[in-house]
Amino acid sequence: MPDEAGKAGAGGAEPASTRAGDAPAPAGSSPCLSALAAIPGNRVAPATPTPQHGDAACRVIDPVRVEALAIRGVGGGATVSFEPPPLLSCAMARTLADWLDRSVQPLARGYFERDLTALRVGGGHECRRRNRATAGPVSEHATGQALDIFAFRLGNGGTASQVVVETPSGLVQNRFLDAVRQSACGAFMTTLGPGSDAAHANHLHVDIQERRSRASRFCQ
Ligand SMILES: [Zn+2]
Repeated sequence: MPDEAGKAGAGGAEPASTRAGDAPAPAGSSPCLSALAAIPGNRVAPATPTPQHGDAACRVIDPVRVEALAIRGVGGGATVSFEPPPLLSCAMARTLADWLDRSVQPLARGYFERDLTALRVGGGHECRRRNRATAGPVSEHATGQALDIFAFRLGNGGTASQVVVETPSGLVQNRFLDAVRQSACGAFMTTLGPGSDAAHANHLHVDIQERRSRASRFCQ
């Protein structure tokens, strides 16, 4: 049952992403990055975005390169790796870490009895307009506040399987994706995916860009 699976991670241990210990912060790192780096299993490093077109609208606050994020696995800590590692704002990386640990991993366990092990992603920091138009508002990707997810990998090695956002196979994969998307609507400011519009037919777009009012989340 999706509801039960979604709640499975709510009890028990502290979410991995809020378990920041007292490890000394790497020199020069932000409080956000220090908190992320203190969690065993997280592989995040400060990053320098390449200046693109010198566009001030494309500034990333507190940029980090995310290689892997820790989640609570069945036998203890597990990690989700990012292929390829995106450049994100640290705030986005933290929101992502929370969502993977509290929602996606419990759903992966509930639907497939496997740990979430990797995400195939795109569209971390990229200085561009929305939907690659030549005019109009700057994309949430321009500020590192957004991520596009193309596939979820479950399990390791020879028994690993993949749920591809564009082409889920079978009822269980479809239900898993629906539940993942629903949970994303609560975790992020905007969630778009197949069926929203042509630009999002093959991936799930999530971002934490503030909208006009805090209450107006956009979920399609
Ligand atoms: Zn996107």
